[in-house]
Amino acid sequence: MVETVTAKPAQAHYSFFKGVERSFDLAAKYTRFETGILEQIKACNSVYQMKFPVRIGDKIEVIEAYRVQHSHHKLPCKGGIRYSMDVNQDEVMALAAWMSFKCAVANLPYGGGKGGVKCDPRKLSVGELERITRAYAKSMRDVFGVNKDIPAPDMGTGGREMAWILDEFNKIHGEDMPGVITGKPIVLGGSLGRDAATGRGVMVSTLCALKKMGLDPKKVTASVQGFGNVGSHAARLLSEQGIKVCAIGDHTASFYNEKGINIQTALDYVKTNGGVLKGFTGGVEIKGSELLTAKVDVLVPAALQNVITEEVAHRINAKLIIEGANGPTTPEADAILQEKNVIVVPDILANGGGVTVSYFEWVQNKMGYYWTEKEVNEKHDLSMETAFDHVWTNAHEFKTTMRLGAYITALKKIEQGVKLKGFF
Ligand code: NAD
Repeated sequence: MVETVTAKPAQAHYSFFKGVERSFDLAAKYTRFETGILEQIKACNSVYQMKFPVRIGDKIEVIEAYRVQHSHHKLPCKGGIRYSMDVNQDEVMALAAWMSFKCAVANLPYGGGKGGVKCDPRKLSVGELERITRAYAKSMRDVFGVNKDIPAPDMGTGGREMAWILDEFNKIHGEDMPGVITGKPIVLGGSLGRDAATGRGVMVSTLCALKKMGLDPKKVTASVQGFGNVGSHAARLLSEQGIKVCAIGDHTASFYNEKGINIQTALDYVKTNGGVLKGFTGGVEIKGSELLTAKVDVLVPAALQNVITEEVAHRINAKLIIEGANGPTTPEADAILQEKNVIVVPDILANGGGVTVSYFEWVQNKMGYYWTEKEVNEKHDLSMETAFDHVWTNAHEFKTTMRLGAYITALKKIEQGVKLKGFF
């Protein structure tokens, strides 16, 4: 087992949901929407908590898990499932709320949802993970549904877990319903392009922002925190666009190379080294905190939430931050970055590529007809560029940050839906 040696997120007692509410309230001030409607958009509509016994090693352990449906203004709800020891109700609520706003920004016909299972996938055997996943799927049999609530992967989960959930769901309902979950392996109805989609969205957001800033990607340097699904694809795609990725890191180690890190070599290394960067020789080893403050033009936090704290924000050198992770910047840090004129492309825009291609996967499952990777990527890029332009326009029209511009964009769309549907 490799120890965690890199950047630590802010204190565990920090309320992520309050952070979301704070951004929401700031954005709401720019609107003239009725207070009751704003309260309804802000609230989590359903919160499910469950505990189930699973055999782990020679013991029975009670596993704590959640599913939150933040917004029913559009159904189905959509959002990933996270496996981590940090999972708690507050975190899942925040992640679900971000999904509502993210789907609205990306113009997808979904409300937001999120799931979380409190476990450390790195310490569990494949068999233990399968039992936990199937138990979770079973407890969610009446919550998940093709037109009710569609999960997807998030931190600590991937196609393998999605396949187990689909199988459990199909067994319970006695029919094949691939559209109940996205991020599936291709042979089970997954979409081409889904695996790299969030990283691709990060790349498209970066290019859009650089264009607005008048910067040539070929003369730009970047640092990427996290080398999992989002970070590794983002680093690869950024470097394919000519951006020099000088720093990369994961929970085991971080590396810097002034001349640029060869991302393909790093990907090959990780593949043969148990999925981690520890021991990589393509750069000098640096501390995780140094990766965030490295002298680069673009910083992509693509690992954890709350890693850009006030203290880190003061020392950040990048002029552009693309939030690949959900909630990597604390509200206090956000204010400092604004003072420093650092452009922050917020999570609810920058990492929307994943849910966009999840939506394409669901559409393909419903049609029973599948697109080529080129078709998926073209639709994805157009959707991300359109979303970026809407947010940029709102940010400039209201003379505010990209984060508030994104919240305003989302609020405008959700308010219309809520109002038109009416009330009791
Ligand atoms: P992942 O589990 O595939 O990868 C997480 C990466 O973060 C790993 O490389 C891990 O080593 C690294 N990491 C963990 N702790 C770290 C630490 N202390 N310092 C540095 N690195 C650390 O997860 P992912 O799917 O890539 O998700 C990353 C972030 O992106 C999360 O915030 C997630 O919510 C968000 N996100 C993911 C998707 C998606 O499609 N996977 C979509 C939208 C948002």
